[in-house]
Amino acid sequence: MHVVVIGAGIVGVCCAIELLQDGHRVTLLEPGAPGGEQAASYGNGAWLSPSSVVPMSVPGIWRKVPGYLADPLGPLAIRWRYLPRLLPWLLRYLKAGSTVARVEAVAQALRPLVGDAPARHRRLAALAGVGTLIERQGLLYIFPDRAAFEAEALAWRLRAENGVKWVELDENELRQREPELDRRYGFGVLVEEGANCADPGAYVAALAAYAEALGGAIRHRRAMGFRIDAGRLAAVRTDGEEIACDRAVISAGAWSRRLAREAGDDVPLETERGYHAVISAPESGPRHPIMPSDGKMAMTRTRSGLRIAGQVEFAGLEAEPNWKRAEILRDFALRTFPGLPRDLPADRVKVWMGHRPAIADGLPCMGFASGCGDIVHAFGHGHVGLASGPVSGRLVADLIGGKPPAIDPAPYSATRFRA
Ligand SMILES: Cc1cc2nc3c(=O)[nH]c(=O)nc-3n(C[C@H](O)[C@H](O)[C@H](O)COP(=O)(O)OP(=O)(O)OC[C@H]3O[C@@H](n4cnc5c(N)ncnc54)[C@H](O)[C@@H]3O)c2cc1C
Repeated sequence: MHVVVIGAGIVGVCCAIELLQDGHRVTLLEPGAPGGEQAASYGNGAWLSPSSVVPMSVPGIWRKVPGYLADPLGPLAIRWRYLPRLLPWLLRYLKAGSTVARVEAVAQALRPLVGDAPARHRRLAALAGVGTLIERQGLLYIFPDRAAFEAEALAWRLRAENGVKWVELDENELRQREPELDRRYGFGVLVEEGANCADPGAYVAALAAYAEALGGAIRHRRAMGFRIDAGRLAAVRTDGEEIACDRAVISAGAWSRRLAREAGDDVPLETERGYHAVISAPESGPRHPIMPSDGKMAMTRTRSGLRIAGQVEFAGLEAEPNWKRAEILRDFALRTFPGLPRDLPADRVKVWMGHRPAIADGLPCMGFASGCGDIVHAFGHGHVGLASGPVSGRLVADLIGGKPPAIDPAPYSATRFRA
């Protein structure tokens, strides 16, 4: 079959590779560069985290939100002009985390997406000739003390119940592993099976090149919609010509909503805008990828420097970045590693803003479109899209090839939002 894959972020390139390996003909549509700065896949925290099974929306979050919003240095921001458009999504988001039972169900559905992510990425990267981009030194959560860890009891219970294993580090052990870390942290939790990517943008670009080497075609076009004749997909419409095809995959990240609607599904997809700051040639920093409990951000050494990635900002796809959000991340790193110079020159800090494709209940949308069985959804991977790209690609190829699916697609169905 000829399959058009829309979008060449991590999800699109993984779909393309799996489809090519199954013997299909693939055209990958991407208006930018695969893995370029427009994609969330470029600038994320670089974590390939089997422990990312805890959704953002959990019971009691609504009590914390006003505090986060009031704190100019906090992890969450809403542009007030955008609130009316955001409101329906926000209400669904709060509902998704309103009971422990709901959150348990989300965690169970996230685990198949991330559980074997490090192994899947290692295999894929090796095939594409960039095996050294996947690093395995574990992922380290840091806390001021054990009490702060215990305050996150629900999150760690969900992890344990979903097969995540970890090692607890007391102050001494943490100090040995992270000698340059500020003394305010005295407790650590190391997820040894966790991995990270040394350069997510270069990784996605290498995977796109690998797809081409397998015979895939990359077209620098933007998908505008579909031509559906008598219920069957005839072509993908682009900003240039139409591309005739048998199947299409919607993997355009945060830009997928309109395409999904045209394929018959109105999915509550938002952009959770996130930021990063990269400090080049850092004098000090973590030895493992770390996540401070009081910072809600990932700090990871990458090829271009120490990357600090995080923040959630609701302002839509069009608004200009607010670079203060990236400065918050940079300044947090300076407080976390006192060995970094206070007076970092601007040319040593590179900032970025990107769009997490976020569905209100914290799960992606994957499966056949309601309006046309020749179109498959593969978007909305929120905070775990880098990790879950490979298994998502496998699932999409299985669905298109009519094979038993690698994982059960039921929790990711687009129809779950119907009343
Ligand atoms: C700050 C931050 C930190 C994060 N940290 C992590 C992390 O540590 N680990 C993790 O697993 N995940 C993390 N994520 C999430 C992860 O980056 C995303 O879930 C993932 O990159 C989404 O991949 P994608 O391929 O769906 O979308 P994208 O990477 O955004 O790619 C979508 C592509 O589609 C293209 N496109 C758009 N419209 C069209 C169209 N009409 N036609 C054709 N192409 C189109 C775009 O140009 C883009 O290249 C983070 C995200 C952010 C923002």
